[in-house]
Amino acid sequence: LPARYGTGEKSVWVEYIQLAAEYKPAVNLGQGFPDYPPPEHVTKALAEIATGDNPLLNQYTRGFGHPRLVQNLAKLYSPLIGRELDPFNEILVTSGAYEALFSAILGHVDAGDEVIVIEPFFDCYDYMITSAGGVPKFIALKPKCKSDNMTSADWVLDEQELASLFNSKTKMLILNTPHNPLGKVFTRSELEVIADLCKKHNVLCISDEVYEWMVYEPQKHIRIATLPGMWERTITVGSAGKTFSVTGWKTGWAYAPSNLMRNLQVVHQNCVYTCSTPIQEAVARSFEFELARYNSPECYLFSLARELLPKRDYLVKILKENGFNPTVPEGGYFIVADWTNLANKIDLSSEPDKYKDYQFTKKFAKEAGVLTIPPTAFYSEAHKSLGENYARFCFIKKDENLQLTEKLLKEWN
Ligand code: PMP
Ligand code: GLN
Repeated sequence: LPARYGTGEKSVWVEYIQLAAEYKPAVNLGQGFPDYPPPEHVTKALAEIATGDNPLLNQYTRGFGHPRLVQNLAKLYSPLIGRELDPFNEILVTSGAYEALFSAILGHVDAGDEVIVIEPFFDCYDYMITSAGGVPKFIALKPKCKSDNMTSADWVLDEQELASLFNSKTKMLILNTPHNPLGKVFTRSELEVIADLCKKHNVLCISDEVYEWMVYEPQKHIRIATLPGMWERTITVGSAGKTFSVTGWKTGWAYAPSNLMRNLQVVHQNCVYTCSTPIQEAVARSFEFELARYNSPECYLFSLARELLPKRDYLVKILKENGFNPTVPEGGYFIVADWTNLANKIDLSSEPDKYKDYQFTKKFAKEAGVLTIPPTAFYSEAHKSLGENYARFCFIKKDENLQLTEKLLKEWN
């Protein structure tokens, strides 16, 4: 393996999806995906497209994004960012948000460039930066206090530490709001601190907003691209998989000013070229459907968060009742919970993993039948200890599976 790709170790997803197949846990609260159907109009659109009377919808489409999809993305986002997005020059459709991140990083990061990454971070950022020859610089969100009633707002960045990471080699900062795994929704004043530093040091911002529609009242999602002076330096990433609960469709996008998008287009045209036509057409029709009922309570872009809220609250409650200390997320569909009060109930000595959260999540999956994700996967080597006391639980699951989780936790306790 070329050295720029590291040691080639399995990612947490490869390892834990394999574990799910091996252990057959009674409930899988690991990888983030719904275990119930997406909205009917979304899947119906795809079925109609595949078998409909326009055979061209099963053939290649425009490389930088199927016209009907980029037009609908422009219609959706223009009012949200307060400027008219040019569908053909300022938006790129990608193979999942993963490829949007990949094209943005590979398209802008040169050998020796530094990229600031906020921990915990979606694990592929690190790998994408180093494979571009860049150097990741990490800063961790840390809890301001330790209490039994923590929310994701209690996890904050130290402003001075953040400022100290910027220098003449800094090319980019990667932001993720709403945040995976903590569920933090960055406030306007937190975003202003980041934006001011990016402007002062002429740094690009990649804003990973795949959970943009999963934000719980009274929190509001703020797009950093809308802050003064940020549009010209921000590439924003979204995901149809997250937006419409169809993670298997692996369709995402990036939007930014055309001069920044150019580099992403170059990577995309030579590595991927074009994404699936029927899926893009179905996502386009799905947005058309939602845009037509945007102001009604049924609009899925808003109803999803309302549907998820009781699931979040129920999982928080059962985790608390069973000895975990969860951080209540303001967005996204994960809960990070401290398991250390349960340490005396579980013997980790048989688990050979280096980090305690890997040991805990494996033993817990075998003993309790509940699969979760170890958060040290979301930290750099030097900061792994910050994640060891936690496990990540996904709550976009059927109520019956959350009820089963309660039963399994009680039995295990
Ligand atoms: N960013 C974050 C923060 C994620 O959690 C995920 C997982 N969905 C992605 C990007 C990748 O999204 P996609 O499945 O559209 O590639
Ligand atoms: N974003 C999802 C999660 O965090 C899926 C990750 C993945 O498939 N790599 O669980």
